[in-house]
Amino acid sequence: MTSENPFTQFSSFGSIWAATVGRKCCGMAMARRFEKFQSVDKGNGLRATSVLVPGELLYVVEEPFAYTVSKKSRGAVCERCLRRKDHLLRCSQCKFAKYCDARCQREAWGDHKRECKCFKSSHPRVPTDSVRLVGKIVFKLLKQSSCPSEELYSFSDLQSNMKELSEEMRGGLENLAVVLQLYLKEEIQDFSQLPPGSNILEFFAKVACNSFTISDGEMQEVGVGLYPSMSLLNHSCDPNCEIIFEGQRLLLRTIKEIQISEELTISYIDLMMPTADRQLQLKRQYCFECSCYRCRTQDKDADMLAGDEITTKEVKDSIPKMEELQAQQKWDQILALCRSFINNNISHLPDTNIYQMKMLDYAMDACINLSLWDEALLYASRNLEPYSLYYSGFHSLRAVQIMQVGKLQHLLGKFPEALETLKQAFNIMRVTHGRDHSLMQDLMELLGDTEASMKTL
Ligand SMILES: [Zn+2]
Ligand SMILES: [Zn+2]
Ligand SMILES: [Zn+2]
Repeated sequence: MTSENPFTQFSSFGSIWAATVGRKCCGMAMARRFEKFQSVDKGNGLRATSVLVPGELLYVVEEPFAYTVSKKSRGAVCERCLRRKDHLLRCSQCKFAKYCDARCQREAWGDHKRECKCFKSSHPRVPTDSVRLVGKIVFKLLKQSSCPSEELYSFSDLQSNMKELSEEMRGGLENLAVVLQLYLKEEIQDFSQLPPGSNILEFFAKVACNSFTISDGEMQEVGVGLYPSMSLLNHSCDPNCEIIFEGQRLLLRTIKEIQISEELTISYIDLMMPTADRQLQLKRQYCFECSCYRCRTQDKDADMLAGDEITTKEVKDSIPKMEELQAQQKWDQILALCRSFINNNISHLPDTNIYQMKMLDYAMDACINLSLWDEALLYASRNLEPYSLYYSGFHSLRAVQIMQVGKLQHLLGKFPEALETLKQAFNIMRVTHGRDHSLMQDLMELLGDTEASMKTL
């Protein structure tokens, strides 16, 4: 695959779409531009072996070691390719797993065959994501086949942080191990068939700190998977790389210029959190303390929590309720709550306040679901500035947010504004997603359409 130069100026959009739509990976092995190394304080890591510019595709993992659709996306996405589809076909055996078509089902069968029997026998109980994933790991290990996702680092190499776990966490894992054995009992009665040294408890611990959330083009969670080689990447709250998914396929891309010998980093967590919250999550889930520049200087904490403290707390405390309403698709109720938070608070919060931003996001989402395009655009536009503050430079979440605004402008017939907005999204997305990504293809189609609409005005 050729690397792309994100700084190539485009003279005419039209010609770019034509040249890039339909371009596929040519299947050539990429010359690797990074290497494994042992860092002083973070253990194993990856570092650059040449100067890298933003927008380079560094590594691709076609198939995870093991993966599963997320519980909240089950029934909405294909369990094989993780693409969203209105009509999915049910597995005729377990009547549980769902696929796009016969092809996806055929491709998944090797992976699904044994769990299919477990589903049938444990019906109507449904395993949690981690139980299902560890079940798939157990089947995979019993096959004893090598997996390209282990090219740089294998499943057995993965850290589990077992020694650092709290009693409470350990107890939780022990419960999961019992549930797993019940779930698998139809297929596996004797765990001694597993490779020597295997420990179910440790599998759960490995999953907890090594699994990747697989998201779709809109950055919505669709699955969870293990990509052992990519577990070598260490965390930074100001990362120089990003992982993007296309179905279950993982792409590692640069989002900053990287010097020779500089470590490659990604963010393990949501970055729209103040330092103390980020530290807490990293400690709990990954058992380490981040000492990056942003953590040392508490960078942007003041902006994130700007405004009245009591209102901030009130808005923050409403988030679980919002999540619940969102899961139930109660858009009217969400919008009513958001409107009262956004408009009627006695002490208004600035839009840079991260909880205010979340309310604007919920409000936009609710409006889109209720086809209230004007109001959706209002909320989405208000979040553009704050997003550029927290996701400055190249970041997929910001690109998706900008594209959303552009889509709404296009929908409302505001074509000149839409064109400007979509071009901004394009400039970020060719770095974060690359030209071959399906979301980029959607964006280019939308841009082409906006240009055509302007000509006919
Ligand atoms: Zn599919
Ligand atoms: Zn089945
Ligand atoms: Zn940090």
